[in-house]
Amino acid sequence: MSGYPERLQQLLTQRRDDGLYRQRLTLESAQGPVVQIEGCKYLNFSSNDYLGLAAHPKLIESYRLAARKYGVGSGASHLVCGHSTAHHQLEESLAEFTNRPRALLFSSGYMANIGVLGALLQRGDSVFQDKLNHASLLDGGRHSGARFQRFLHNDIDSLNAKLGSAEGEKLVVVDGVFSMDGDTAPLRGLASLCAGQNAWLMVDDAHGFGVMGPTGAGSTEAAGLGLAEVPVLMATLGKALGTAGAFVAGSEVLIEALIQQARNYIYTTAIPPAVAAATLTALDLLREESWRRDHLRELITMFRRGAEQLELPIMASTSAIQPLMVGDARRAVAVSNLLRQRGILIGAIRPPTVPAGTSRLRITLSAAHSNEQVQQLLEQLAACWTDV
Ligand code: PMP
Repeated sequence: MSGYPERLQQLLTQRRDDGLYRQRLTLESAQGPVVQIEGCKYLNFSSNDYLGLAAHPKLIESYRLAARKYGVGSGASHLVCGHSTAHHQLEESLAEFTNRPRALLFSSGYMANIGVLGALLQRGDSVFQDKLNHASLLDGGRHSGARFQRFLHNDIDSLNAKLGSAEGEKLVVVDGVFSMDGDTAPLRGLASLCAGQNAWLMVDDAHGFGVMGPTGAGSTEAAGLGLAEVPVLMATLGKALGTAGAFVAGSEVLIEALIQQARNYIYTTAIPPAVAAATLTALDLLREESWRRDHLRELITMFRRGAEQLELPIMASTSAIQPLMVGDARRAVAVSNLLRQRGILIGAIRPPTVPAGTSRLRITLSAAHSNEQVQQLLEQLAACWTDV
């Protein structure tokens, strides 16, 4: 073997040797607290369907009606002829819900982040990112042409030390809720630092939107921050809202500039209109039925209390993401496999998604879980944790 086949084979062998080989699960059921894989049912604590809306009958019904009206595919990019009334209404509702003048849909969160950073930054500018930011933000920053710097996780002093000597336009970018740790960014402190340094703050609230804040509008709402403090708000629709895609909310001028400049917006097919219609229904449920957030909060408290009693290594998280730190990648996989044998589905998160030596079980809770299911999780964790 030589050339690409040899190189790729070596990569695969190395991945296996390091205990870092990734494999997909193939679900035979809808997303939910119980999923089916290879004919077996599992209690699912690994999805981002935080409010249990992914398979909600009302979302399915609006999806069905919209597919009948608009068809399945959007047919083109937004700027050609793929922008439907459903997309437009969703953008208006998202702007209203986040209390911003405008919102713009993207086909995925990954694309939104790359697109926004590419559009906002140019050579001579400076971008500052928390070390634990999502891969899409880091990739977008690296490829932007601007001077890219990372600061210590949630460390305002570390950011301050770098911001002082920055050149060009300055953009500070953080996750609202960190995807693999579940902790929240110190948004108020970051916002006042940015204001003092004439920097713009961008928040990726993929894991806070729909969950955090008095109305579920997310981490910025929870921190009491509006458009002036957080000019660029991004969130995804494939997590708490249960559908797919993402949006950016901000000023009229930001959104118009993105429409003109963001290559990941311009050169891609719009999400299916039926997805936009189902997302509108999810947004209605979010507004009208706050019990999901209340129940989720109750489950988070219950899980943390139980895990503390069991002396499990929980992390500093108040969000739906409740990881248990393991450290070694092989051990994380072994615990995950053992739990799987006992009917519990939890992913082992390993490098390069997290830093070396910090492999973990990423437990996610959902409003669709019952108290009994979380109790079952705790019982199985107690039984498995010390066995591996
Ligand atoms: N940002 C964060 C913080 C995320 O966790 C994710 C998805 N895991 C994304 C962006 C990407 O979103 P999407 O899955 O819609 O591409």
